[in-house]
Amino acid sequence: MSTEEMAQQTETPTKSAKVDVASMTREELTAYLESLGEKRFRAEQVFAWIHERHAASFDAMTNLSKDLRKKLTQEAFLPSFATERIQTSAKDGTKKYLFKTLDGEFVESVRMIYKHGITVCISSQIGCRMGCKFCASTLGGLVRSLTAGEMAEQIYRIEEDTGERVSNVVIMGMGEPFDNYEALLRFLTLITDEKGHHLSRRQITVSTCGIVPKIRAFADADTGVTLALSLHASNDAMRREIMPVAAAYDLKSVVDACRYYFEKTGRRVTFEYALIGGVNDTDWAVSELSALFKGFPCHLNVIPVNPVTETGMKAPDREGVERFLKALEKAGIHATVRREMGRDIDGACGQLRGRVTHQIP
Ligand code: SAH
Repeated sequence: MSTEEMAQQTETPTKSAKVDVASMTREELTAYLESLGEKRFRAEQVFAWIHERHAASFDAMTNLSKDLRKKLTQEAFLPSFATERIQTSAKDGTKKYLFKTLDGEFVESVRMIYKHGITVCISSQIGCRMGCKFCASTLGGLVRSLTAGEMAEQIYRIEEDTGERVSNVVIMGMGEPFDNYEALLRFLTLITDEKGHHLSRRQITVSTCGIVPKIRAFADADTGVTLALSLHASNDAMRREIMPVAAAYDLKSVVDACRYYFEKTGRRVTFEYALIGGVNDTDWAVSELSALFKGFPCHLNVIPVNPVTETGMKAPDREGVERFLKALEKAGIHATVRREMGRDIDGACGQLRGRVTHQIP
């Protein structure tokens, strides 16, 4: 049997009748192991094996009894991604990982090196159904959402590969995290657990295209993470042209929901603005932005749009970007340009597409 056929025979994580222990919170795992007749401390051990030691199988959990290991192998599963390919940027050391899931789908994640530590950009879904015109992740539609365990697995496989702790996580890879809301919250609980990776909430950013009711619910959930909002336009007509989600929620309701997030959590919201030449880089856009943000302490992150063959959208030249930033500054809008990383390996914003696009010769 080929590995391809074997992969197809493996039960899919979403349809599997087996128990998804890697997506369980510590309390849920405790209840589950108690239901198997195990003592509470076993849950701590299994949790640490998954979230701290990144065990790839139940057999590797050597301080559990043989019986329990066998029972877990029969009843439960781990996400166990296979690393299909790693590309390293010659420019800045950024690494793009292509992982294969148990059901044979592909997930991409990006690891970036900054002065303050290692940031990993993870995917929340395989594909995306939001349809943003400038983004490669949405070209093939949504395949499926990732489980919380699969979101964490991306970080764990990268740490195992590099041997270095990940200090910052941005949920800005493939997919719309608020279109996978329950798994997102679960992932945040897992990754910040003191008995697991124990990532600080301050070091996590969730980026959304702007699903208003979910922004409000997320504010109420008070997770303590930073919210980034993909704005990309200064008025509704312009936004509707490049982001289908804008037909459901107008700019005012999006910015109001972000104000609510700020009021509820005290965390400053970041607005992402992919700069597209001739579309959203005019002086007019700057004055509209300034009206939109009036009295709102926020931050604008300008990303010269990254090339995606199918979109045909281009960033302005360097002078154009500078001009736009100067105009923002003059209008009193706090803004920075996002440093481009991993563009030479199609690892930059909007370039992840979760499949093998360039065959390795
Ligand atoms: N669905 C979420 C997170 C994924 S995209 C969201 O929309 O926020 C992460 C960021 O990259 C978003 O701001 C997205 O709009 C932006 N992006 C997508 N394609 C891009 C491109 N070609 N160039 C620059 N930024 C892009």
